Amino acid sequence: MSSQTSVSLLPDAIKEVHAFWLAGGSCDGCSIATVGATSPSAENLMLGNIPGIPKIVLHHPVLSVVAGDKFMKPYWDAAAGKLDAPYVVIFEGSLPDENLAKQYGGYWSGMGVKEDENGDPQPVSTADWLFNLSKGAAAVIAVGTCATWGGIPAAAGNPTKATGVMDYLGADFRSALGLPVVNIPGCAPQGDNITETIVAVLLYLHGIGPLPDFDELGRPAWLFNETVHRGCTRAGFYEEGIFAEKHGDKECLVEVGCWGPVVQCNINKRGAVNGMGGCMNVGAPCIGCTMPGFPDAFAPFYKAPPGTAISSNLSRTTGMLIRNLRGITQAFQNRTGRWSKDVPSGWGHVQNPSLAKKITHYFYEKLQFSDSPKPGTGTKRLPKVK
Ligand code: SF4
Repeated sequence: MSSQTSVSLLPDAIKEVHAFWLAGGSCDGCSIATVGATSPSAENLMLGNIPGIPKIVLHHPVLSVVAGDKFMKPYWDAAAGKLDAPYVVIFEGSLPDENLAKQYGGYWSGMGVKEDENGDPQPVSTADWLFNLSKGAAAVIAVGTCATWGGIPAAAGNPTKATGVMDYLGADFRSALGLPVVNIPGCAPQGDNITETIVAVLLYLHGIGPLPDFDELGRPAWLFNETVHRGCTRAGFYEEGIFAEKHGDKECLVEVGCWGPVVQCNINKRGAVNGMGGCMNVGAPCIGCTMPGFPDAFAPFYKAPPGTAISSNLSRTTGMLIRNLRGITQAFQNRTGRWSKDVPSGWGHVQNPSLAKKITHYFYEKLQFSDSPKPGTGTKRLPKVK
């Protein structure tokens, strides 16, 4: 889904966009991830420091400095259509079935109160807030795997009958400016994935950028099209068929439970915070936390995925051959042309390549320079060091 439109969907004079953060069945991890974002940072968004997009006025149940009625007023104003600025809704956590909770006289997630038919104050569920605010929102953004697909609260058994935002609002939902739900999965997503997507959506709404490229599940395609494996620093080990046997080993983690070859996520490329960390970078196998099937489809987390039996054994076979050939090449590339015999290293004894390796390398070089001159050929060469 993409477009090159440059027509502003927001009024021209708009200097501020409100962001109403709502939390359902959540651990607040997505909030923590957002405040850790650096590119761009939440602070720069809230200070209006990003050229081309309006300043974001964040209403967040944990981060706000005001509380009580003062905190709730903008929510009520927005729901009543009385807010004097456009707004987006950002939902974190899953949506448990509030009707189920009501049967027991309780609620799962709520914020603010309103009177019931008897005049008694009752909590307003965040599911109700989502329903009421989503109609007038410029965009609805589901943040984290609980909000996108249901996540851990919706795992097998699902006692609260939890769902994600997309399931809750339905396939026909469109925001006031015509967008389906935008999904940024991850448990928690990298903060930069969250803030970068918000910026991309706001640039589009402001008529400065194109409609960002979302995939068929509403994920920012430029962040989620590639697999974890394609960006993994351990992928070279996989290719050469070398696998970790236990946690803490430096090689490819597929045989200790890594699902990276099929999981769509940019964690290895982007890192967790400010380019640092990221699951495999710090030794953890990918357990598929960005995927709609998470967690059930990736359990048990400590076992190699079933497809590994074929794919890693194939890598082992081809990898062994490739690894050995590369070893020969590497042995020669680790020498200068001046070291025809002994290497003058005081650090260790460097063995001269065997006859078999010399023969293999001879033919390798023939191939290498088959259509271009070998450096030094045809020019006067300096005498070799004796
Ligand atoms: Fe691929 Fe996982 Fe191995 Fe990295 S650790 S190379 S993502 S299988």
